[in-house]
Amino acid sequence: EILTSERFNAIFGFARDVPRDLFVKALHPDDFELRNNAHKTALTSGKLFYEARIIWPDGTLRWIRAQGKVYYGSINKPLRILGTLLDITEFKHLQQQKDDFISVASHELKTPMTSIKASMQLLDRLIKVDPSSDKIPQFINRGNSSLNKMQQLVDSLLNVSKITAGQLTLYKTRFLAAQMINECCDHVRLTGTHELELTGDTELELYADRQRIDQVVVNFVNNAVKYAPDSNRIVINISKQGDMAQVSVQDFGKGIPAENIPHLFERYYRVDTSGIQYSGLGLGLYISSEIIERHGGEMGVESEIGKGSTFWFTIPLN
Ligand code: ADP
Repeated sequence: EILTSERFNAIFGFARDVPRDLFVKALHPDDFELRNNAHKTALTSGKLFYEARIIWPDGTLRWIRAQGKVYYGSINKPLRILGTLLDITEFKHLQQQKDDFISVASHELKTPMTSIKASMQLLDRLIKVDPSSDKIPQFINRGNSSLNKMQQLVDSLLNVSKITAGQLTLYKTRFLAAQMINECCDHVRLTGTHELELTGDTELELYADRQRIDQVVVNFVNNAVKYAPDSNRIVINISKQGDMAQVSVQDFGKGIPAENIPHLFERYYRVDTSGIQYSGLGLGLYISSEIIERHGGEMGVESEIGKGSTFWFTIPLN
């Protein structure tokens, strides 16, 4: 016999008290044995504990954690279990996200690492057989650019730790928005794949953490390059909107499906979760949105499939 609270029933998706066998039947078939074993162990240990999946009457899958203590009668016969039930669906979901993220992050770090290793091996061989080879600087460059890539990835991870620990401190100064944008996007001009157009109020002065705002613009521009590989135009616009400064980065790429837009600034979020087509950690926009929020500004995006996306942020002028 089982006596349950309203909340217990609700966790199982039931609106009222139901017989015990309905609770047991709600368990996911693959977790039956686990639950039975936990009950068997409880008879000897005196403690019940298990986490299992259940299936709601409407078919949705949820996770529960059951915990309890066995009470014995005078002749040491187990009489009843008093316990609690928790809905841990959200917790399990986050745990899964974290596991997925670790696998993505390791993979992302491994790619440049493999390239550095290959460059080092080739250099090692070249130096032995042909120490004056003109290929040597080429391999050093390749190794260096992979090292830079690794450094960026590690920086992103460290940024996230800082944000979660509430340690993202800002060092504000006054500077020209146009000058910062011109300097931070040199790398795109150098590769020559995309043309950058800077429009709007090129005299506008910002009062902000230059390095952090630089990081946000670089992230927008790098995404524009990455997710719009077939178009060669990127327009960066600076404008004054009341007492706020706005910077926007427009690309003419494939755009983002409307249903994905609300999640873009979440941690680890990526539209293409398979990661086959584009590499990335899904952290850039999350870090950017935290930086803008710390400045007291806002961040947003307008996007149309097949036409492109415009990512923008605003920060207070003073
Ligand atoms: P990452 O690029 O490492 O995946 P971001 O946080 O920078 O992480 O971006 C999150 C997701 O937003 C990307 O995975 C991509 O799907 C989408 N996205 C970002 N910028 C653009 C863009 N300019 N065009 C299309 N999709 C974009």
